Amino acid sequence: MSIIPSAAPNNTSPADRAAAHFAADFAEATIKSRREDGLYRHVEFAAPKTMSRLILVTWPFNLLVAGSHGSYHFERFGNDTEDMFAWLRGIRVDPDRWASKLVNGADSVREYDRSRMEDQIKERVADAVENDWAPEGLQGAVTEDILGSHLLDAKGTAFQLVSEYEFGAKHRAECSCGLSSKDVSYDDALMWDVYKHKADGKKHKIKVRQVAGFGFDDFSEWSVDKVSYHFAYQCHAASWAIAQYDAARAKVPTKPAMVEHGLSFGDGNVVMAGSDAEFDDRAVRAGAVRVTRTVSPWTEAAS
Ligand SMILES: [Zn+2]
Repeated sequence: MSIIPSAAPNNTSPADRAAAHFAADFAEATIKSRREDGLYRHVEFAAPKTMSRLILVTWPFNLLVAGSHGSYHFERFGNDTEDMFAWLRGIRVDPDRWASKLVNGADSVREYDRSRMEDQIKERVADAVENDWAPEGLQGAVTEDILGSHLLDAKGTAFQLVSEYEFGAKHRAECSCGLSSKDVSYDDALMWDVYKHKADGKKHKIKVRQVAGFGFDDFSEWSVDKVSYHFAYQCHAASWAIAQYDAARAKVPTKPAMVEHGLSFGDGNVVMAGSDAEFDDRAVRAGAVRVTRTVSPWTEAAS
């Protein structure tokens, strides 16, 4: 039985990098069931060559994924999730969506992503240009003033930078008498009353308003976070591990009475050992690069 994780697609998104990283870590791995009691499971995977460990623990409506890349506790109450393996079995790995089922909340695995912030900025500038309301020179100015700034490295300073940014603003002074200034700078609009309009203040009420210019807004709609690399890694790990568990489980005779200690089943890669404390690496020593082992308590059912 092959337990090589499927190869990651050839692109470089963080989630794909995590998938490829996991695949490399667990190219040679063993599976060990430490506890098997209905929906109460404790399954461990070990990849000694890369010193990687992965542990899945389930109890009704709960799944704990632990090991070398961190510990994540999922809880999901649904008609079909009493067995949490059933929830993830066979579905596409989707760390963004799965994060919403974390007991600690999705925000516990989200982190600021500068490249997403840049995408949001570019998107809004492009939108202004496309819809013909971008002041002349906007794209060049944003590239120079914002996209090249180290202030985008951190979420707080990034939002401060974009929220205070203004380009090509024009203002107009409008008087209650019906006269108004040209579209000018804010300062010139303020001074219009004194230098151009020269009205008697008692009869004329003047307001200055912005009539053109570009600024960023609607920040609550800006999506600038991504799930952490380690969480994405563990999502790929969990998906793979459940498939391996199912495959190994399928090789164990369903009738406990038929199980005999020390027997090999199928293609010989599933090794039933007498004790879960044993570590049988004979297949590794024999040069087989893929080893799957199942040990007690599946075998304990026989005793
Ligand atoms: Zn007036």
